[in-house]
Order: sequence, then structure tokens, then C-alpha cells
Amino acid sequence: MTDAAAVRRDLHAHPELGFTEIRTAARVDTALRSLGWTVRSGSEVFDATGLPGLPEASVLEHSAGRALAEGVPEELVARFSGGHTAVVADLHGNRPGRKVALRFDMDALPITETSADDHRPHRQGFASGHPGVMHTCGHDGHVAIGLALAAALSTRDFPGSVRLLFQPAEEGVRGAQPMVAAGACADVDVLLAIHLAFGLPSGLLAPAATELIATSKYLVRFTGREAHAAKAPEQGRNALLAAATATLNLHALPRFAGAVTRVNVGRLQAGVAANVIAGAAELAYETRADTAEVAGELARRAELVVRAAAEMHEVEVELIRTGYATAATTDPAVAAALTSAAGGLAEVYATHPLGASDDASLLMRAVQESGGVAGYAIVGSDSPGPPHSPRFDVDEEVLPVAVSWLERAVQGGQW
Ligand SMILES: [Zn+2]
Repeated sequence: MTDAAAVRRDLHAHPELGFTEIRTAARVDTALRSLGWTVRSGSEVFDATGLPGLPEASVLEHSAGRALAEGVPEELVARFSGGHTAVVADLHGNRPGRKVALRFDMDALPITETSADDHRPHRQGFASGHPGVMHTCGHDGHVAIGLALAAALSTRDFPGSVRLLFQPAEEGVRGAQPMVAAGACADVDVLLAIHLAFGLPSGLLAPAATELIATSKYLVRFTGREAHAAKAPEQGRNALLAAATATLNLHALPRFAGAVTRVNVGRLQAGVAANVIAGAAELAYETRADTAEVAGELARRAELVVRAAAEMHEVEVELIRTGYATAATTDPAVAAALTSAAGGLAEVYATHPLGASDDASLLMRAVQESGGVAGYAIVGSDSPGPPHSPRFDVDEEVLPVAVSWLERAVQGGQW
């Protein structure tokens, strides 16, 4: 087994949700320091305080306790507690050149991994040991690739300098914005993000993913008034109905001609019992679009639906945007550099549609807007199930291919 596969299996067995990646960040931090990289981490590079997408305090505390119990040194648990789970590492090459930053996301999803006999992580003893949490988007593989790349580059045989960005909370598109705010992209000339799989099979590399679409995620809280459902229903203010009305009408928003759009209510909770008018309801929804213009208009209409549903049922409403990502495109110079670096490693598949969102787009934008170039590439990986499903798995054979690809591109320096 390669080192990257071993790291990936360890992370796969210990998945952590966004902003609770304490064990993962500690492992990354320790490995990078031992390889000679200049590391900044925790609140040095990331201020999670008050972020709208942060989990509740009890969740953050639980994850810190779990990391301690799993052997993470106390000092590192303290460093990464409270949602400050980012790691940034820099290394100078041995000749002049540009500053290249590579983004690797670290978080898992709230999905229960299948225990089916033919699921390899289960069969080979590295399935998730954290109930209800699973690396089902390949971010375990991303971190493994990032650390193997850090080892490969530690000889400093490359032009310019390299910055590795290990990002928390890509799921829910919550982690990139605070990294940008903390200056992760300062002076960066080239920003590169990669993703495993996404429908691209093993043996193929796509240097420039298309359809990286804009998204916003929202949390909505409706607060009404509880009342006896038979004795005095008219005295209640039904938060459940407001949430249900909002849900159906969010899904009834029109499609937009000439743009790719999505709307989804993914979570809905309300009420306490059959004989009580529900006084509280909560829902989570997202909007997506492939142009900034339509993304803005879709978000506006969705908000209108939510507020009108609240008004219709005379309940209070609180609407919080918990995360967002913009649309993004790969610069031709980056695509060309990655295409030439892929020579002999794998077949190049010029453009593969991601058809999804990734807040790496915010890092890409930050670099592009200050005169640099950026790209989003996909490393093909066969999987028995799609990403975000309980049967997803990474083809570990592709991990060293991804490392070589990125290493060559960095060494080439032809961005
Ligand atoms: Zn992902």
C-alpha cells in the first residue's frame, strides 16, 4: 500500500464533519512540520468565531473530546477547537518562480456508511468508526494527496513557492470564505483545487472542470405560537405550516431559460405532537445557478417565498445564509499546464462537468481578481456508488497518479 493510501484509510476510519476536523488537522499539521514546511494553523489562519455555518457549541465540544480520546495531543486539540480547523503551509523552491497555492478540503458528511459485505472499507477494516459520519466525497483522498505532495516537494526542487491550504467545511460551502478573509490567497499567483471522482473514471484526468456552479445555503427558523389543536387552534400560529408552505413553494420556483439552476429543501423539522399547533419549525435549503446574475435572482425569489410563507401564517422568521460559493472557470493557462503535466500519466479528458458547487471557487476568484490565474481539476476515480452516497469509495490506485500530476505541474511552473 502506498503512503497516500494508508493516510486515506486512517482518515476514512476517522471522518470529521465541517469545523470539527480536529484529528485530521492535527495529523496534517504534524506531518507538514516534520517535512520542513512553515506551518500556520488554527486561529492563526482562520477565525471561526461567530460564523453562521458553525455547528452548535455542544457539537464542537464533543468533537474536541473525541479527538482527545483518540490520542490527539492536548495542545493540538486546543489549537483546533472551536471550529478553527484550518492549516496553511508554505515552502520555497530552490529557484525563482511564482507562488502556487493548492487547496485540499478535509471534511466528511453526516451519512451512515454502508455495512454491505462488498463495500471495501468495511471488508478491509477501515470503515468509519464515527457513527453517522462518512467520507463520502473523497476528501480523505484529497488530504492524503496533499500530504504526499508535501513530502514529494520537500526536496524544494521546484520554482517559486508553494502554499498548501487544508480547508475545513467544504460541505455546506462554509470554510473557504473565512480562509480568504484571513489572507490565505495573499500574493498567490496560481490557485489550484482538485476533486476526486465526480463521475470521471479511473485513468482519466480532467484539467479544467466545467459547470462549477454558484450556490447559497440557508437556515430558516420559523417561530409561531403553540396552542391546543382542538380547543383553540385559532389561537396558535402554525410554524409547521409556514415551513411546509415555504418548502413546496421553493420547489415550485420556475426554472430559468439559459441557465442551469437547482433549488432544494434538504431538511425540515417541526412540531412536538399531533395535538399541538406547532410553535417552531426549522428548514435548510439551497439555491444554485451557473451565472452570478441568475444566482442572485434565484436567491431573491427564494427569500421572498420564505418571508411570504411566514407572513401568511403570521409567524416570525429568521433567515441565515450559512455558506456560499460563486461560479468559477479554469484559466486556459492553468488548463494547459495541467494538460502537459499529465503526459504519460493518464488520459486527459479536457473538460468534465462537475455539475455541482465547491467553495474553492471563492479562493479561485480571490486570486483571479488580484491578477492571478486559477483552476479546478478532476482526478478520475472509479467508485461503486456516487459521491454523497453510503457506497462511495475511492480507487486508491489513483492517489499516487494525482500526486505525480500536481508535482509535475508545480515543477514545470508554466502557468
Ligand atoms: Zn467534495
